[in-house]
Amino acid sequence: MHIRFWGTRGSFAKPGSTTLRYGGNTSCVEARMADGTLVVFDCGTGVHGLGQALLAAAQRPIDGHLLITHTHWDHIQGFPFFAPLFASGNTWHIYAPGGFGKDLEGTLAGQMEYTYFPVTLGQLGATIHFHELTEGTFDLGSGRVTACYLNHPAVALGYRLEVGGATIVYATDHEPHTREPSLLCTSSVAPASALTVHPEEMRHIALLAQADLVIHDAQYTEAEYPQKRGWGHSPVEYTVDVALAAQAKRLALFHHDPLRDDAAVDHLVDLCRQRVRACGSTMEVFAAAEGQVIALPEAAPPRAPGGRLPASTATGTTSVDPKGEVTVLLVDDDPAIVQLLQTVLQLEGFRILIAHDGDTALQLAKTERPSLLLLDWQMPGRDGLEVCRSLRAETDPWLSDMPVVLLTGQNRAEHIATGFAAGVTDYLTKPFSPAHVRSRVHLWLLRRRGSIL
Ligand SMILES: [Zn+2]
Ligand SMILES: [Zn+2]
Repeated sequence: MHIRFWGTRGSFAKPGSTTLRYGGNTSCVEARMADGTLVVFDCGTGVHGLGQALLAAAQRPIDGHLLITHTHWDHIQGFPFFAPLFASGNTWHIYAPGGFGKDLEGTLAGQMEYTYFPVTLGQLGATIHFHELTEGTFDLGSGRVTACYLNHPAVALGYRLEVGGATIVYATDHEPHTREPSLLCTSSVAPASALTVHPEEMRHIALLAQADLVIHDAQYTEAEYPQKRGWGHSPVEYTVDVALAAQAKRLALFHHDPLRDDAAVDHLVDLCRQRVRACGSTMEVFAAAEGQVIALPEAAPPRAPGGRLPASTATGTTSVDPKGEVTVLLVDDDPAIVQLLQTVLQLEGFRILIAHDGDTALQLAKTERPSLLLLDWQMPGRDGLEVCRSLRAETDPWLSDMPVVLLTGQNRAEHIATGFAAGVTDYLTKPFSPAHVRSRVHLWLLRRRGSIL
């Protein structure tokens, strides 16, 4: 498999003399399998260069698979400028997280309305198939893709691509689930407690496990991160720690901050290499650079191309609620938080129920059977953990399996462990951004939908 970085910058393009070595274009990575299958991760401004290179090559038709992590601008802005989409005879499969609300085709068409662009999506010459994904595994050519949700203020998927014994992981636009620094111990590669107490961190590490190459968000440093929490990006120290915990062989720092010039990226690389050495590891770390090519030998014989459609394709607008309505129960004794969450979630079309104490919450959960519970920890009367324990003890699986997202100011590892021991599904630390809560609500409803269908 050949990998080429066409865009490594995060957030917005930053061309110029200060970004010449690592590049100014936004996210786009090409992976070409030995069987010829072309996979493109994200469609930032870097995809323009890939399109021109594909046109210049003799091979026709130009077919491929575009795996989009999420539809924030820096991951789709190159889409209208990707030349292979304009030629008839080419076939492109486009994958991105599905969910509630606007569909993938509508989102991509939105940035190509005449207000923004002279050619509409419907006028593109290539045959385009849209696939809305949830978490899961599916075949692409002789390879296999595993999609897993990331922690970002939009529902985003990370992708693991395995082909012929070679594995790459593309995981950008992700931030830690815990607020404490990951504090990997300096004497072994065992993950530190702040990483292991949160099941979502372990899920993330499993996505990266044993990969030959991990391409990972590395936009900030631990020192910068407190001002950037909730923005959905990783401090490099965390990036190194999850890659070490996953026993990855190589780590490419990715989604470089637009404010970080080439020399500053070099400094990040030094910082990361020191951290790797201090952990007694030989994992290779480098900063992804535009134009850089990496070859990963495919040792095992490739499987016959399957062309199978994703097993995890999202299924339209099916609701988890038998009444056809998605109900979310908000429980917090702080009226300001309730009002904020209510405003955000009503915009999503959810039916909102409100409780200000644990007893009322439990009663509403039983009578109204919401799809999801957003639950404060410390409240008058029964606290959040007691409410959660009571629900988990119910015999009705709708209640005992209900996703419970705990909202709390308690951020230490032992608090997180206590929360999960009480049966919470997810643990969000205050203060949080409305976009972040919205994203977690969507994610858990999608997972719940997948487990029910
Ligand atoms: Zn981004
Ligand atoms: Zn993003």
